[in-house]
Amino acid sequence: MKILWIAAEAFPFAKAGGLGDVSNGLPKALKKAGFDVRVLIPKYDWINPDKHSLKLISKEASFRKSDSFSIWQGFLPKSDVPIYFLEASVFSGAGIYEGDEVKKFLFLSEAALLLPNIVGWDADVFHANDWHTATVPVFARASSMHSETIARKKFILTIHNMAFQGSIPLIEYERRGIDKSAIEKFADTADSVRALRLGIHFSDKVTTVSPTYAREIVETEWGFGLQQDLKSKGKNFVGILNGIDSEEWDPSTDPNLVANYSVNNMEGKSECKVALQQEAELPIDSSAFLIGLVARMTSQKGFDILIDSLPLLFEENIQMVVLGTGERDIEASLLKIQQEWEDKLGVFLKYDEGLSRKIYAGTDAFLIPSLFEPCGLTQMYAMRYGSVPIAHRVGGLADTVFEDKEKQTGFVFEEYSSEDLYSAVCRALERYLENPDSWIGLVKKIMQVDNSWESRVPYWKNLLHDLIQK
Ligand code: ADP
Repeated sequence: MKILWIAAEAFPFAKAGGLGDVSNGLPKALKKAGFDVRVLIPKYDWINPDKHSLKLISKEASFRKSDSFSIWQGFLPKSDVPIYFLEASVFSGAGIYEGDEVKKFLFLSEAALLLPNIVGWDADVFHANDWHTATVPVFARASSMHSETIARKKFILTIHNMAFQGSIPLIEYERRGIDKSAIEKFADTADSVRALRLGIHFSDKVTTVSPTYAREIVETEWGFGLQQDLKSKGKNFVGILNGIDSEEWDPSTDPNLVANYSVNNMEGKSECKVALQQEAELPIDSSAFLIGLVARMTSQKGFDILIDSLPLLFEENIQMVVLGTGERDIEASLLKIQQEWEDKLGVFLKYDEGLSRKIYAGTDAFLIPSLFEPCGLTQMYAMRYGSVPIAHRVGGLADTVFEDKEKQTGFVFEEYSSEDLYSAVCRALERYLENPDSWIGLVKKIMQVDNSWESRVPYWKNLLHDLIQK
């Protein structure tokens, strides 16, 4: 089965968050399982063809006289998964989610359908991700590109975050040959329709990134108005948990760490803790309970309840290192607290892949207080690196972090409040201080939890086989 995976990002070429990692890990795992998967993303300016050994394989193709593009090809690292890069003027001069997103992503979605012909490969399945590429099936089934052959292809849409739905003026669809009569019944206002909503209706299968989130977005306000649309898909809407690339994320080989370690030899982890305390300019103190947090700084990630609970937490022997960028007011509040508690809090306001790994490795515990969380990858990276997750029980966090005795993988809080967050951290701290053997047992246990993509492949196989038989 031939599958074209289409997304706005793919690690290591372009990554802003989890979608980048998923666009690398899942295609690689499916390829290993025997599927012919290929990936398509835009060629952003900073993607350097020499650095990644990319080849220009097609120049100046176009789907309308003015919309020309070129295609570069490389491979996902350490794999034989081809990745194509769409080069066009719409993608130049801006970050992944900057500039004219409507223009950029409609261009990507439309061109995706032409790619197989251009590269001499016939995709059976087009796999779109989030609103950015949700219109791929709309172009195939309701536009001037429509042909019996293309309309008979299969289409999957994976929703990585329901909060972003891409409201687009109807006129922009029409300009690109999409038949207004086929989409206007999904319009929210007289002149705009959400790309994600169209994607849900025009795809054969819709998935999201964890079973709990799949329930939440049908049953609660986290569906952001598309609850009924998802419900109408019936069995063709499912939640499949994301995984991690456990070769790429491995503390026993990770070159970013000052010392490597594994379940059988944990010494290196203490060295990573010291190095992190140094880098964050915190007192070197092996007994301090060091907590990490790596996240985009948006209200989704729970910074409000974290900020409220910090002064109380810092009365204990707790240190914290936070890495992220985003909303200015969150950044400013954290910097303010840091000034007051400089021997307790390290704040890094940047995007830094290497530092993120030093944080997973150097911390004792890892906080994920998200208000909602479709899946979340950071709790799984934290587990792999032996940092015990403390999480709000929501979305994919509820499917991966458990506090129940036998299957414990971390500490969880039910209610989204600074009080509940504070008590979960205190429970973790108490275990760390009062029962070191049980703590290290937990650390070693979570390092061995199998969250690999390989463990998720059976679910994808079922879905893909079901899709092809439809
Ligand atoms: P989301 O997709 O909502 O951002 P996820 O938990 O699914 O959240 O994925 C976040 C990914 O982005 C993880 O790989 C995390 O390590 C990474 N990340 C987030 N912020 C930063 C940052 N400032 N520097 C480095 N990596 C980051």
